[in-house]
Amino acid sequence: MTTTDTTQTSAAAGAFGAAADLPVVTHWIDGAEHPSNSGRTAPVYDPARGVVTKRVALADQAEIDEAIASAQRGFEVWSALSIAKRQAVMFAFRELLNARKQELAEIITSEHGKVLSDALGEINRGQEVVELATGFPHLTKGAFSEGASTGIDVYSIRQPLGVVGLISPFNFPAMVPMWFFPVAIAAGNAVVLKPSEKDPSAALWIAKLWQEAGLPDGVFTVLQGDKLAVDGLLQSPVVQAVSFVGSTPIAQYIYETAAKNGKRVQALGGAKNHMLVLPDADLDLVADQAVNAGYGAAGERCMAVSVVLAVEPVADELIGKIADRIAKLRVGAGVGDASGEPDLGPLISPEHKKKVSGYVDIAEADGATIVVDGRACNVDGHEGGFFFGPTLIDALPTGSRAYQEEIFGPVLQVLRVKSFQEGLDLINSGQFGNGTAIFTNDGGAARRFQSEVQVGMIGINVPIPVPVAYHSFGGWKNSLFGDAKAYGAHGFDFFTREKAVTARWIDPATRGGDHGGINLGFPQND
Ligand code: NAD
Repeated sequence: MTTTDTTQTSAAAGAFGAAADLPVVTHWIDGAEHPSNSGRTAPVYDPARGVVTKRVALADQAEIDEAIASAQRGFEVWSALSIAKRQAVMFAFRELLNARKQELAEIITSEHGKVLSDALGEINRGQEVVELATGFPHLTKGAFSEGASTGIDVYSIRQPLGVVGLISPFNFPAMVPMWFFPVAIAAGNAVVLKPSEKDPSAALWIAKLWQEAGLPDGVFTVLQGDKLAVDGLLQSPVVQAVSFVGSTPIAQYIYETAAKNGKRVQALGGAKNHMLVLPDADLDLVADQAVNAGYGAAGERCMAVSVVLAVEPVADELIGKIADRIAKLRVGAGVGDASGEPDLGPLISPEHKKKVSGYVDIAEADGATIVVDGRACNVDGHEGGFFFGPTLIDALPTGSRAYQEEIFGPVLQVLRVKSFQEGLDLINSGQFGNGTAIFTNDGGAARRFQSEVQVGMIGINVPIPVPVAYHSFGGWKNSLFGDAKAYGAHGFDFFTREKAVTARWIDPATRGGDHGGINLGFPQND
């Protein structure tokens, strides 16, 4: 295989040989690993060491076509199986995942960099959706109205869509795909997953697990790739629906392109989540939760808290408490070392580290105070790693790009506001509406907040309010394009199509009798 990109570091080439010697992460098509002949690959890093350890295949059009055709064949087999047979596979997958998830966590940490316990944490939250999906017979069954009109019954049935495309981001290589594929597959669809090219191996591991669970070939396909693979899914007439999670500009592109091509689409985008702290809140609880939600997974979470809105007079005290806690955090390789697991691992790539650092530069240039500065973070023994230390910013002007845009790193901003209303207005003026939280002991204020805030997921004294699997996940405004959220009732609606049947069966006793004769008026119920 030849490679066409030039992003591999020379350090990587030195430590691991030439690009051609590195293992290549392949597609999974027709129930088998499928080596790529496209001649294009991208580097996959170990972010804790800052070296390229693998390369990932980038599909060409022939491979895209092959993947989709195999998925269509898989759909025809899978959707024809009885509910009982499909449910047995879902339960088998759940059992295998539960028994072997540590393997998956290790793969995630090696490519994403997050600490092992957090990798396991994302799998556990994804597993909740698998568990929800085992109950699909109840969630996809239709409704029956006997005698809707005289001698006439009306009923609805839900059918799968066919082949559906999933396009996922780097930050949750297991959980985000699991927001969608358990529901899609349980409902009888076939899935083509295009994982992030930055951490592509989790998807392959999951594909093998599905095969062990007894899923027919072609029902779960992994198409590795970049924009070409995504566009291939968007343009294919076989693909019936697209679920996307990633940054806002790409989410908007996916939404518009998929809709133009006649597909059902849900496209979840970026975020800038605010935590509103009222003066009556327990400030130790707030400081703990702000640190957990701001710096966990190095801030690479769409539900991370990025901005703490402190209603005065509590800002100074709160900043002191957060800074004290930051001083005790340990940054290091996600796998841990002799002194145990660190609190946060590295960022995903050198480009992303530069971007996060650039936003702190902007904040500083715009007049903010950098209370704790993580830009020069270094981890002994991991000098090449993409580490960025927890950073705390005070007095950032709201006109700064560092306030208005998503940073996606361990950078927490504290903004001082005079009142509940000023904080609420600030949240509602932003372009995103993914998650938010209020910290207070005043139930009336919390109730008003949940009613008036323009955000899809709200925490009350809870900082990362990711809904349980039987509710649905999704934001408002530029955080979600489309009408359907992920999983829960929305998920089953998204991955099925309903038919309504109006049926008349003549009672044998009245056969041959008068049934109304000719009447050209619009049918009436009686
Ligand atoms: P990204 O938008 O760069 O990539 C997401 C996916 O889109 C990847 O599979 C990528 O290969 C593909 N892609 C990238 N550029 C493309 C293009 N020009 N055309 C077509 N496809 C393209 O996002 P990322 O950096 O992998 O992930 C981080 C982003 O995801 C953040 O903005 C984060 O907030 C967001 N995110 C949102 C949620 C949510 O629930 N709203 C959840 C997780 C992550």
